[in-house]
Amino acid sequence: MRSLPKPAFNAADVLNACIASIRDASLSGKLTVVANNVVLSETDYLMRGVGMTLYTVAPSDGIAGVLTTAEMRRVYAATFVKSVRTRSMYDALKAAPRNDVCPLCAQRTVSTLDHYLPQTIHANLIIVPINLVPACAECNKGKLDHQPNSEVEQGFHPYFDNFDDAQWLSAEVIEGAPAALRFSVSAPPGWPPAKSARAEAHFKSFRLGELYSSHSGVELNNIRFSLERISHKGTADDIRAFLADRAESARRAYLNSWQTATYQALALSDWFCEGGFLT
Ligand SMILES: [Zn+2]
Repeated sequence: MRSLPKPAFNAADVLNACIASIRDASLSGKLTVVANNVVLSETDYLMRGVGMTLYTVAPSDGIAGVLTTAEMRRVYAATFVKSVRTRSMYDALKAAPRNDVCPLCAQRTVSTLDHYLPQTIHANLIIVPINLVPACAECNKGKLDHQPNSEVEQGFHPYFDNFDDAQWLSAEVIEGAPAALRFSVSAPPGWPPAKSARAEAHFKSFRLGELYSSHSGVELNNIRFSLERISHKGTADDIRAFLADRAESARRAYLNSWQTATYQALALSDWFCEGGFLT
């Protein structure tokens, strides 16, 4: 769950570029008529986003009785995503995350834009940049066209939420053959209950525990040789020092990564440092 800066352009920029690109005079005319409705919806969204009350945004089936939801979806897919005038905006939204990492899972590569409030339910937000979040294919696919009904049902919103003000991701070592890690959300003491509940719900619905366990399993295999080499000449404390150093390096890069949680848990595990890594 990684925050992103808000888009550098707004709905009016997208609308103007789309209207100039659409050859179908009837469709571009309708888009011109509803442009103000879209801009007003963006203003409303920006206000509600600050306190994350986006679940209170009213659904809109079509826009102002002028443009249908299907037509607006066509504007998005056939014009916004593809036309020469708008493609740079689409690409800029997708390119916002550092190293192309999906802000929703913090692991896989961005491949698309996700509508935070779904396009099937909110026609007037389909081309509004603040509602378009870069995402990997799996996060995008796994998210149902669902209207959140309460604050805690809202998934992480990269443009409005900051979940990196404290460490919430933790891991525990499963003492088995081979060793493995189990991840969970540990609510930081200063967080309001609703924020903790949202982190927990996002973690579960995007199946981040399974994703991080899989990657940490690969990492354990990758460091095995280094740990064996240290253990030939050194002690459990030398193993622990190596792991603690990796934990600190990962923590400085990113507080809530599976790497940070993994190395912290490994360094704290007497079982692992005293030979569990050999299992
Ligand atoms: Zn993702």
